[in-house]
Amino acid sequence: MTPIISCDLAVIGAGMTGMAASMFAANRGLNTVQVGVTGEIIFASGFLDILGIHPISDKKSWSDPWAGIAALIQDCPDHPYGRLTENEIQSALEEYLLFVKAFGVPYYWEKTHNLEMMTPQGTLKLTGCVPQTMKNAVLALREKPPGLIVDIRHSAPCSECKNRGYSGDPGHTPQSGGSGGSGSPDRRQDF
Ligand SMILES: Cc1cc2nc3c(=O)[nH]c(=O)nc-3n(C[C@H](O)[C@H](O)[C@H](O)COP(=O)(O)OP(=O)(O)OC[C@H]3O[C@@H](n4cnc5c(N)ncnc54)[C@H](O)[C@@H]3O)c2cc1C
Repeated sequence: MTPIISCDLAVIGAGMTGMAASMFAANRGLNTVQVGVTGEIIFASGFLDILGIHPISDKKSWSDPWAGIAALIQDCPDHPYGRLTENEIQSALEEYLLFVKAFGVPYYWEKTHNLEMMTPQGTLKLTGCVPQTMKNAVLALREKPPGLIVDIRHSAPCSECKNRGYSGDPGHTPQSGGSGGSGSPDRRQDF
């Protein structure tokens, strides 16, 4: 039989909004239950965007996200950001950042400045907060200090590689029919 759970608040939806709502409620002592499957969060890079581009049609970028939000609200008064003051958004974000930090995921942000990050495709993206582990990438992109690119290769295959048919030689290609279990070719490749 499906168990019946009693709570003060049931949050339906497990995307960022649902998670943030649950966190705010739990932080205020409400007995909270969250229900749902992961939403668009599976696409998230780990960056927390505040506002970087507006209007999208003009690709206008904003180094100050709060100035961008003011312009957004002026153009779209019904936007959800328009329901909150700048202080309310900032203190909500600060509470969220403290929460994730307590769970071992500290973030870096500069509050009044968007951060510029390089994506894996080599494009630049403006975002509000990045995981602390990415802070040096933000600073390196901005300050452009001399850098040394190190190429790490392993000369001997580990047991996992051996099992999967990798030779460990630079430039090797996976062999088909490895010990993947199903007998189907292993399509993983090094790039
Ligand atoms: C490709 C891509 C990349 C992105 N990258 C970033 C990024 O790097 N940084 C960033 O800050 N943002 C990024 N975003 C935006 C970010 O992912 C979204 O803004 C955010 O996830 C929206 O959260 P949400 O909770 O509002 O909605 P969702 O994540 O869509 O969650 C909605 C939830 O409600 C549930 N639900 C809906 N209808 C019902 C119903 N009738 N009954 C029960 N449950 C229901 C869904 O199952 C889901 O769990 C990206 C988005 C995309 C698509």
